[in-house]
Amino acid sequence: MTDSQNAGYDDLLDAVDLNQGYYLVCESGHGSFPPRQVCPKCGSTHLVEKPLPDTGTISTYTEIQVPTAEFAEETPIVAIADFGPVQLTGRVLAEGNDVAIGVRVSPTVTTSQAGERHLAFDLPTRR
Ligand SMILES: [Zn+2]
Repeated sequence: MTDSQNAGYDDLLDAVDLNQGYYLVCESGHGSFPPRQVCPKCGSTHLVEKPLPDTGTISTYTEIQVPTAEFAEETPIVAIADFGPVQLTGRVLAEGNDVAIGVRVSPTVTTSQAGERHLAFDLPTRR
């Protein structure tokens, strides 16, 4: 990752943490995450901010067999979830048998045991 990508990711974490997550959409409906000045799909410079939906649905997920040291002994399931026209990748805060394609999740921010902030997904319907 470059520094600017890291800065964007930190901004996204801060916004999600405050329930103020948002994404950018062009007039063709392509979604992307800030910071951006042009649509990555069509090159449009007319980008409008939209609030990130409160929930998304898991479109795919994978169980990590050998977690990195930062995530040792933490839920080793990483999912990609659709939030309207954008997708987020995060660690699922649930047991493996609750995770399936199409399950609704809400984005949240968590910190690994090693102190690394990252995006995670809660399963609001299961709590
Ligand atoms: Zn576009």
